[in-house]
Amino acid sequence: MASPLPPCTAVIYSALAIVALLLLSATAVNASQGDKEPVYQDCVTQCVRTNCTGARLRGFQSTQAPYMALTGWTCRDDCRYQCMWQTVGLYQAEGYSIPQFHGKWPFARFLCFEEPASALASLLNGLACLLMLLRYRSSVPRQSPMYYTITAFSLVSLNAWFWSTVFHTRDTYLTEKMDYFCASAVILYSIYLCSFPCLRSVSISRFPYHTILYPLLPLSPHSASLHHLLFPVPPTGIVNLLWWLCWCWQNRRTLPYWWKCGVVVVLLHGLALLELLDFPPLFWVLDAHAVWHLSTVPVHFLFYSFLIDDSLHLLNTEKTGVKLE
Ligand SMILES: [Zn+2]
Repeated sequence: MASPLPPCTAVIYSALAIVALLLLSATAVNASQGDKEPVYQDCVTQCVRTNCTGARLRGFQSTQAPYMALTGWTCRDDCRYQCMWQTVGLYQAEGYSIPQFHGKWPFARFLCFEEPASALASLLNGLACLLMLLRYRSSVPRQSPMYYTITAFSLVSLNAWFWSTVFHTRDTYLTEKMDYFCASAVILYSIYLCSFPCLRSVSISRFPYHTILYPLLPLSPHSASLHHLLFPVPPTGIVNLLWWLCWCWQNRRTLPYWWKCGVVVVLLHGLALLELLDFPPLFWVLDAHAVWHLSTVPVHFLFYSFLIDDSLHLLNTEKTGVKLE
């Protein structure tokens, strides 16, 4: 007879199942005030009818820049883009607030980049993550207890930032799903790490590694929206913040690098609030989402600096045979 699952493992599997169900039941919001406007819809219909058939379409395709064709910009997309700005112009002329279109604010396209600021910020986050992963691997010996765990998580994060860059460059059904799926993978990986304290009664149990990736969630692309989907933010966010600050305070005398963790936790929780500021893009480029993505770039450096210090500390603790409680 098979032995029953340990209680903790059963809880983890249950949590994973719930998360998977929530993700599967999530539906994208595509309709917005702007694209529901008859003037916008008429404009798109007319534009497609006039420009996206026959000789006009062939003319469009022959003059389209290669990078636009490669990133999948179609004649219909161009019509939508032009009609969006026409509608925005009408709204502004009438003194109304700027509407969203297809679930997004109007952004000024730069080359093939649909949301240039968010795409650039995602790229910078990915580069920061890559740079610090390389520094981590060159600074921390492989024997360190969390070496492979941190490496694996960094790779999952890098993949998520790659798809975030792609999604903000070109929002299609596929890129949207890949972006959300890969951001979800970061969260699922962090939940998987919850099993560490349960499956390993190891000496590092003093350190709450099962929550280490939780404060990292704001460092995963679109985690805020997933976070809103998956967790009741205020209670878990506050508990998590207090938990970490308590950990920092308790270890302030023994771990000289404790402050790095404290600053990262406070910064990430504070910066995540930027996502709540939903304003039309400044200069049609910089919206709250882009500001939030940009703001997390420097945090990678401090967070990995903390991880390096702590991994070296754990390694030294193991070498000297000091038992942690
Ligand atoms: Zn994003």
